[in-house]
Amino acid sequence: MSYDDEAELTRYVLRHHPSLLSPFEAQVQRAAYAREKFADDTGEHARRVMERFGRLGDPRIDAALAGGIEGFRRSACGRILAEHSELRINRCPLCRRVMRTPAAMQCFWCGHD
Ligand SMILES: [Zn+2]
Repeated sequence: MSYDDEAELTRYVLRHHPSLLSPFEAQVQRAAYAREKFADDTGEHARRVMERFGRLGDPRIDAALAGGIEGFRRSACGRILAEHSELRINRCPLCRRVMRTPAAMQCFWCGHD
């Protein structure tokens, strides 16, 4: 499994510190997930979720997602890191890769414990 530091950092920050997303960023992320999950679903539930969260035709959301959900998540993570220098990222003391969780003691990548 190859290691992509920016991808791991993005996963870690957005999973463990979701409250640091701005309200707009949280809205974009919800819209992206709703669109992805219900894109081809014509059922009533899908229609309601899309109406509430999908924000189809919202140019601000579309612009934020122009580079895809992963591109959006990476730029949101970059903003969070730039504005929250106090944020501690749990990195392996041996290989310096990002640990799976803030409390993880064993490295998923090199096995260091
Ligand atoms: Zn390691």
